[in-house]
Amino acid sequence: MTDTMDDHAWRRAVRAAGADPAMIAEVRRLYRLADAEIASHRPACRACGACCDFQRSKHRLYVTTAEVCVVLSAVDPRRPVTGRCPYQLDGLCTIRDARPLGCRVFHCPPTPDDWQGRLYERWLGRIKRVEARFGLPYRYGEWLATLGRLAELPANWPAGEVRGGSNACESGVDSVGGGQ
Ligand code: SF4
Ligand code: SF4
Repeated sequence: MTDTMDDHAWRRAVRAAGADPAMIAEVRRLYRLADAEIASHRPACRACGACCDFQRSKHRLYVTTAEVCVVLSAVDPRRPVTGRCPYQLDGLCTIRDARPLGCRVFHCPPTPDDWQGRLYERWLGRIKRVEARFGLPYRYGEWLATLGRLAELPANWPAGEVRGGSNACESGVDSVGGGQ
């Protein structure tokens, strides 16, 4: 992957914002509200974990900068990136509390009324407004490529422990919201 000056600046901004408890708390608050709305649709998921294997499922997860910051406030991002999400372990999501919006919204099969797409766009818009309020640079990127860009974060990145490792993955790919 080719690194650019933009990538350096973005990583610096992500690192600073990831250590900002107010920004992280605000995005997590939006996640909780979005989760409640998602639950009201009673989506089904058998927690098979297939949609976190991007190479095989042909889905793509897209994330914006604030979402990356939330993940990085919870875990060390410096992991080998393959075709599968590196936070999936034994078929389960190990960062359930911090997982991006696309992971929360996606359920299969898609429903005819596309509530997932509409809900995704609405909550993504709110997350983007938080980004703007906290002065974060906007970048909407594919998940694995984004993790690859973070691989060079310094070793003293203030990551916490992996959380929520025993929860089932109700899973995680953003083919909603025009992510493909
Ligand atoms: S949403 Fe993902 S984890 Fe859930 S049943 Fe579908 S493919 Fe499996
Ligand atoms: S739910 Fe999202 S963050 Fe969790 S393992 Fe799947 S793709 Fe990764």
